[in-house]
Amino acid sequence: KNKVLDTSSKDLTPSYDWFQTDYLVTVVIYTKQKGMNSEMVIVDYQDGRLRIDSILRDYSYLLHIELSYAVQEDIAVHVAEKVGKVEIVLKKKDNIAWSKLGQPLSSHNSFIKCTERGLYYRKCKLISKTEVTHDTKLFCLMLPQSTHLQVPVGHHIYLKQIIAGTEIVKPYTPVSFSLKSDFKEPSHHDRTHLILMIKIYPNGLFTPELDHLQIGDYISVSNSEGSFKKLQVQTLEDLFLLAAGTGFTPMVKLLNYVLTNVCSLRTVKLMFFNKTEDDILWRNQLEQLALKDKRFEVQFILSEPKKEGTGKQGKISSSLLSEFVKRSKKDSKVLICVCGPAPFTEQGIQFLQDLGYSKEEVHSFTA
Ligand code: FAD
Ligand code: NAD
Repeated sequence: KNKVLDTSSKDLTPSYDWFQTDYLVTVVIYTKQKGMNSEMVIVDYQDGRLRIDSILRDYSYLLHIELSYAVQEDIAVHVAEKVGKVEIVLKKKDNIAWSKLGQPLSSHNSFIKCTERGLYYRKCKLISKTEVTHDTKLFCLMLPQSTHLQVPVGHHIYLKQIIAGTEIVKPYTPVSFSLKSDFKEPSHHDRTHLILMIKIYPNGLFTPELDHLQIGDYISVSNSEGSFKKLQVQTLEDLFLLAAGTGFTPMVKLLNYVLTNVCSLRTVKLMFFNKTEDDILWRNQLEQLALKDKRFEVQFILSEPKKEGTGKQGKISSSLLSEFVKRSKKDSKVLICVCGPAPFTEQGIQFLQDLGYSKEEVHSFTA
């Protein structure tokens, strides 16, 4: 007799609509999900084709349309976080009344798992290339004006190049321009550019080709992927980062984010493993940050030091970690992030597990 509300039949499939004025065409997506933000909407417009990918947890809702008429390159994306409504505002090139939005293209109006969607690439222009160390460079790429793509903290993109007739794809983690932890909102530059810190391996397959790119050349960049969630750091008290070599890259945005946005945070410690002193990425910036922000501390560990006796030596080990990852207070909420060569990450996870940390307290960055 009692009515039981059947929530399983509630239709959570997103839907869309569109409307126009003399000058604008607005596409509205009703995601039916709370907590949406502008990182979850990826928009591309190229050759008259509009592609809007809304990421809803592990699912992707795609709109893919050949528009009836041309629109301008500057496209606005508005997200109403509380109600999950997304508005894409297009400016008409010509003042014509549209009788329909356009023709559906492949996978239009589909709602499938992100893993089944496949990667989508757009060409980005190389704006600058600057040296970080003897073998590592910062590559600054500019997104097309008609692309809206913001890579979340801890996520990576894929670069694609054709090498000797074969398509090669490799993952890279965007960083910020610097370790200045004084941003609340991503700046205009952050929204229109991707900064990649990439180590060139002389006998590597992909990176020597990348190094040959000239300023003004284009390279294909995919949507982002990753399992890291900002929720993991929301009420955090201690954050410990274990990075080896370019495994430092996900730590950059993470550091900037937590030091600016997580008020419960008491300590952030980075243990940075490198072969030699010359390999340490952004050493100066890290030391400056430690001076400026008392919550932050950095330790460098060298596995192949050129000179004896300069700082700590060795590789990742249980004895190195046991002191380093101690909670600042009994029961403080802690997260330990690990990133580096696969054996480094695997050993780190094992040592932390042996030290009694739970799976939820350890995050490793992987593809
Ligand atoms: P590869 O051809 O893969 O070679 C790399 C090195 O290994 C060379 O020294 C090569 O001589 C050696 N090597 C290759 N094959 C063998 C073998 N069979 N035996 C022994 N040695 C071998 N890298 C960055 O620089 N920055 C980043 O931000 C970044 N982010 C990443 C994010 C993720 C999620 C992952 C998984 C990786 C990331 N990487 C990053 C690494 C990047 O994806 C590439 O693996 C890296 O750039 C090397 O590519 P490559 O093709 O030039 O080198
Ligand atoms: P590297 O060869 O210069 O080594 C850096 C340090 O890693 C060494 O000093 C050592 O302390 C440690 N290390 C290396 N090999 C080890 C091993 N077998 N066991 C234990 N410790 C070891 O490092 P690199 O050339 O800068 O490579 C960085 C690695 O990080 C790459 O494999 C890259 O794919 C990976 N990476 C992953 C991500 C991600 O998100 N998953 C992001 C960036 C980089």
